Amino acid sequence: MKNIYANTPILNSTAIQGDHGVSVWLKMEAQQPTGSFKLRGISHACITYQKKGAQGFICASGGNAGIAVAYTGKNLGIPVTIVVPETTSQRAIDAIQKEEAHVIIHGKSYQEAHTEAIGLISKEQIYIHSFDDPLLWEGHASMIDEIKAAEIIPDQIVLSVGGGGLLCGVMEGLARNQWSHIPVLAVETHGAHSLAHALNNQNHLGIDKISSIATSLGAKKVARKAFEEAQKKTVSNHIVSDREAVAACLQFSKDHQLVVEPACGAALAPVYVGHPSLKDKKNILVIVCGGVGVGIEQLEAWNKAYNQ
Ligand SMILES: *Cc1c(COP(=O)(O)O)cnc(C)c1O
Repeated sequence: MKNIYANTPILNSTAIQGDHGVSVWLKMEAQQPTGSFKLRGISHACITYQKKGAQGFICASGGNAGIAVAYTGKNLGIPVTIVVPETTSQRAIDAIQKEEAHVIIHGKSYQEAHTEAIGLISKEQIYIHSFDDPLLWEGHASMIDEIKAAEIIPDQIVLSVGGGGLLCGVMEGLARNQWSHIPVLAVETHGAHSLAHALNNQNHLGIDKISSIATSLGAKKVARKAFEEAQKKTVSNHIVSDREAVAACLQFSKDHQLVVEPACGAALAPVYVGHPSLKDKKNILVIVCGGVGVGIEQLEAWNKAYNQ
């Protein structure tokens, strides 16, 4: 069967690289058919579960995971139910319904939607988690295979962290390509800094609430595996402000004519501002994780509010 996800371009960005002989490479996950990297891991997980007899998928997500599960289910001919919290935008609900999934609106938060979805699981249905499943990580790892196959050798990878599924997938991809020595900068926004909180406490703790606008990074607690991977010597972490993430999105939209969520702007921000840990790097590869939850008007409105 043909892959459900796309092999995405890897662009050498003239706009971002500045004038120091640095190459900035963009792994364009924003160009997945559903607009985010999530389709890689989710399609891999769903195909695997289908082979094991799953006849339905259910997922709690008001965002890119929900859209990816819906798109995958449609492609596999398997019915999908997505439980979204009341806070979910009409834009996201429309995107999920366009993929022919059944949408249930329930609860004030992701947590409440998640609990509802778990309660709804029927015998032939599989619950698809948005970040904490080894099958997801195995699927996400394919983006590193594509970089290796393109014969691009990064000396730094920059990515954003929500629940840490992307981080786990990239680490798995690096390992299976004998690239475990390549350093990774894991970026969160302030107010969604669950990884930083756990690392600072040297304990797999969560944060009490999400206050960042980067809602796709809004996992109160990262996956245990992500907490473990982040403690490896090659991984460092960093927090940017919402304001920096939004500014990076707007600059990126000018540079590459593409709108991404602040969740993705978080990874772009340290590259745009020249974060110290990127000094002396020659081939910086940014995972442009994408996201379809936010339009340019919203980015501009946030930017205006921050700069008042
Ligand atoms: C889900 C998501 C993230 C965070 O991924 P995790 O695997 O939860 O760390 C970042 N950006 C976008 C656009 C996402 O959809």
